[in-house]
Amino acid sequence: MKVIEHIENNKNGSLLSFEILPPLKGQNIHSIFDNLESLVKFNPAFIDVTYHREEYLFKQAKNGLFKKEIIRKRPGTVGICAAIQNRYNIDAVPHVLCGGFTREDTENFLIDLDFLEIDNVVALRGDPIKSEIYFEPEKEGHEFASDLVEQISDLNNGKYLNSNIENCAKTDFCVGVAGYPEKHMESPNLDIDIQFLKKKIEKGADYIITQMFFDNQKYFDFVEKCKLHGICVPIIPGLKPIATKRQLNLIPHRFHVDLPEALIKEVLKCKTNEEVSKVGNEWCIAQSKELKEKNVPILHYYSMGNGKNIQEIVKNVF
Ligand code: FAD
Repeated sequence: MKVIEHIENNKNGSLLSFEILPPLKGQNIHSIFDNLESLVKFNPAFIDVTYHREEYLFKQAKNGLFKKEIIRKRPGTVGICAAIQNRYNIDAVPHVLCGGFTREDTENFLIDLDFLEIDNVVALRGDPIKSEIYFEPEKEGHEFASDLVEQISDLNNGKYLNSNIENCAKTDFCVGVAGYPEKHMESPNLDIDIQFLKKKIEKGADYIITQMFFDNQKYFDFVEKCKLHGICVPIIPGLKPIATKRQLNLIPHRFHVDLPEALIKEVLKCKTNEEVSKVGNEWCIAQSKELKEKNVPILHYYSMGNGKNIQEIVKNVF
């Protein structure tokens, strides 16, 4: 079923969904299943699987020169989605990126998904790779997520890149896109960011999933602002519990979000990461309960390979 159908058919409070990462190359799929076993019993509407593009490593050779190597540390997004649908009969939602893909690559990727009966995607631009300061699209690739959404909508209308293809089958993808309650890091301000978010909806996106936030008011204000800009699609809040003291710096650095004073104070009092985890879970439970009371469509948890924390939170909220 499509994410948007899950939302439209639901008459009973907020639904639940998770985001997981493919395992590091070298691990097998059971590391994913082990993590998922504890989560699927809560009956999630869908499970997102992130996409990780290539990275460049520079290795020193014997002659002292550096050799550039390309590595994808977390391949397997499509395989994991197919495995989740097959094993648990739960809708799996692969993330699809502009970065690293030509338009042709994207078309072929979407055709694979269509053949696997995966009809949900989240369309994203992707971050710059480590050796870039600014995002660089492939020569024949998309610069912004809105262009990727347009290509997916075209395929849903039976419009392929090569206009000579005859009797084209239409795909039927439901498309999610990213939204940033605290604005995207490159955006000059939140209003401009929301204008570009609206463009993704106009090009055919069905719903928005937000970047993580730790202060619900930021989400409520964002939803209001989106409405003022004429965005009427569901806006799914994304939540992540803090689990280590280091994340006090890592999360703002990586995701460009603020942490509330009260949460920072509680984390700083902790002596071990076990204590931090407890504080992080309690904070996330309180956030979740308030969002649920306000009837948000879905609570979407970033598990980042830590199913235990999320299990604890979900047990207390659902
Ligand atoms: P866009 O919507 O293209 O926006 C990027 C920037 O460009 C914004 O500042 C926007 O305001 C601006 N912009 C948009 N359109 C225009 C325009 N026409 N002209 C000028 N400026 C414009 N990354 C991964 O690598 N893999 C993942 O699986 C992944 N999953 C994610 C899931 C969620 C829910 C979120 C919130 C993020 C995820 N990311 C993932 C990170 C994401 O790829 C980065 O945040 C990326 O920098 C922006 O992606 P976007 O799709 O929001 O880009």
